[in-house]
Amino acid sequence: MIVITDEKIAEINMYAELEYPHECCGALLGRVESERKNVIGIIPISNKREPEAKHNRFLIQPEEFLSCEKTARKQGVDLIGFYHSHPDHPSFPSDYDLEHALPVYSYVIVSVTLGKADEVTSWLLREDRTQFDKEFVQILNCSHF
Ligand SMILES: [Zn+2]
Repeated sequence: MIVITDEKIAEINMYAELEYPHECCGALLGRVESERKNVIGIIPISNKREPEAKHNRFLIQPEEFLSCEKTARKQGVDLIGFYHSHPDHPSFPSDYDLEHALPVYSYVIVSVTLGKADEVTSWLLREDRTQFDKEFVQILNCSHF
């Protein structure tokens, strides 16, 4: 299960809508407590693919990956996953997502329909990398803190 505040969801939605009709992507920082992954911070990452491919592909460069891990370490948290948007597509992982994912990390996908962010889902890659399993997303209401 991945636990994320409505405030962080709003932040991801904002980036997703800003980048529309292109994909946005970024890293999720947080802490893992047994079966719970708590998202504490997000780091937007620039979408490095050629402009014509931006609407359906996201790519995180190795140096960006490393810099996210470094930032996490500095803050005393872990890199727990990544998020990206699916402009005018359901928040279901694509074949491309499957090819480029790594086990352990959570892959949060937000679908953006006609410029408005809607459904948020999270996915975990199986160890054998054959497919994703849906991960339960718990959204915490910030006003309760
Ligand atoms: Zn995708």
